[in-house]
Amino acid sequence: MTNRAARVESWLDERADEMARLLERLVAVDSENPPGRALGRCARVLHEAMDGLGLSPEIIGVPDPSGRLDEPCVVRGTAGGGDPLVYFHGHFDVVPAQSRDQFTPLRRDGRIVGRGTADMKGGIVAMLYGAAAARELGLLGTGRIVVHLVCDEETGSVAGAGHLRDAGLVDPAALAMITAEPSGGAVWNAARGALSLRVEVRGREAHVGQADRGVNAFLRMLHVARPLERHAAEMAGRHTAFPMNAEDARGSMIVVGGLSGSGASFNVVPGSAFFTVDGRYNPEEDLGAELGRLTRLVEDAAREIDAEVSVRVTQSQPPAATPRDHPAAVALGRVVGEVHGAPARFETCPGILETRWYAQLGIPAFGHGPGLLEVSHGPGEYVDEAAVRRCAAVHALYAADMLP
Ligand SMILES: [Zn+2]
Repeated sequence: MTNRAARVESWLDERADEMARLLERLVAVDSENPPGRALGRCARVLHEAMDGLGLSPEIIGVPDPSGRLDEPCVVRGTAGGGDPLVYFHGHFDVVPAQSRDQFTPLRRDGRIVGRGTADMKGGIVAMLYGAAAARELGLLGTGRIVVHLVCDEETGSVAGAGHLRDAGLVDPAALAMITAEPSGGAVWNAARGALSLRVEVRGREAHVGQADRGVNAFLRMLHVARPLERHAAEMAGRHTAFPMNAEDARGSMIVVGGLSGSGASFNVVPGSAFFTVDGRYNPEEDLGAELGRLTRLVEDAAREIDAEVSVRVTQSQPPAATPRDHPAAVALGRVVGEVHGAPARFETCPGILETRWYAQLGIPAFGHGPGLLEVSHGPGEYVDEAAVRRCAAVHALYAADMLP
């Protein structure tokens, strides 16, 4: 281990209990989203912790187009001064718990168990202590770290990250962005995009006794959905050139009919029917072109049977990728190697990642966090305390290397 890595790690080791306590406090706040509860309460815990770490926090209230988020806000903080900057980004909402017990954190055998430990309150603790360590140890040179913590990543981040973009709070001149999502210590330099559609098919209602007067929207829907199955198979065969985890599929993934429904009653010819299409697209794919292809397939099939259809986009999030040989990626790989003592693994995140909000502005953006993706969102979610501290050290040293 290098000298500076040892200094950062011993600074963090001295604060191991403090870091664990903060994570336990954060887990105890049930910031479940949906529905988006206790967000203000969670933000205030973060504010207090960041204040104690000298990160000059502020809570910025944000508009919520959905109207269901409880005190929607972004928590923002800074370490260091000067213009050159690196962003640390995270989210403090969590997916709904499988059991209320998940909000009573358990610390045992070097792990903390509870909802959000992996995704990504453990990652937040890593970033906050990484930023504080970098500042206190004088590693930031003439630059600064800006921390952004948003409240609604699990439902698309329209309020949180959307506000950062709309209010011009993301500086395109930033040197890099890192988010401590549960990458299991790997570096995610690419992430898939998401495109979700709701297809409505219309028919004509009629009572079963006069079924011949109706037009069955359900049967029409089956015809309209059929070509999408072939399309999904074709997309699954289009492999990404970005590195993937060995267990993850290399093609774009599409689910047809994740949600579907029709009709008013079992004894009435259904007058309307709907189904959803949800795609996770590889970084190489163009979401606009894919939307055009999906819409054409639906409309062509509908025309064959003279059916009336409509296609509504319910989610569109572009993929994001920073090439492995970008200087900011090379620097991150070097720091991960320095702290972990093994070469960095570069992978593509199989889901969507908030790197997209920064990558869209040309900022090199990466995921690197302590949690494991396979336990995130599950009933036994946990994070290793040592992994949290290792990632904190990576975050600190990465900022040190990127800032002049
Ligand atoms: Zn997450």
